[in-house]
Amino acid sequence: MSKSDVSLPTAPAPDAPTAIYKASCHCGAFAYTITQAPPLNDPSAQVMDCNCSICSRNGYLFIYTSNDRVEFTKGGIEQFKTYSFASKKMAHYFCGTCGASCMARSVDPSFFPGMTCVNVRMLEGVDLKTLNLKFADGASFDPTSA
Ligand SMILES: [Zn+2]
Repeated sequence: MSKSDVSLPTAPAPDAPTAIYKASCHCGAFAYTITQAPPLNDPSAQVMDCNCSICSRNGYLFIYTSNDRVEFTKGGIEQFKTYSFASKKMAHYFCGTCGASCMARSVDPSFFPGMTCVNVRMLEGVDLKTLNLKFADGASFDPTSA
């Protein structure tokens, strides 16, 4: 696959239908809601299944949403443990107690500002088998960009 097979996040249309999903880490220290457009059961919805070094280890299946569509009901983004590597443009957030890899966010204002990668494995009531997975060949992507 070529680099063009890696889709990059784009903001959904303001009037696009949305669904709200509850999510939490395993131990419950972090709970949050994700407002997602389109809803995950929409045929146009895509969940990224990426083979890059971090996604494959963490088992990420992720969707993109804007930062303001991630709302914490317990804990907060600053309470997560963070991990960054290579260019350190992305912060990977995980629970310091149970280790659940919950989300990732760009910390570089010039690199997809305002976007959050949300691991759908943390979402409640989502049947992973029904998701429209899109393979992303992140392993072939320049690791300094990830
Ligand atoms: Zn936890």
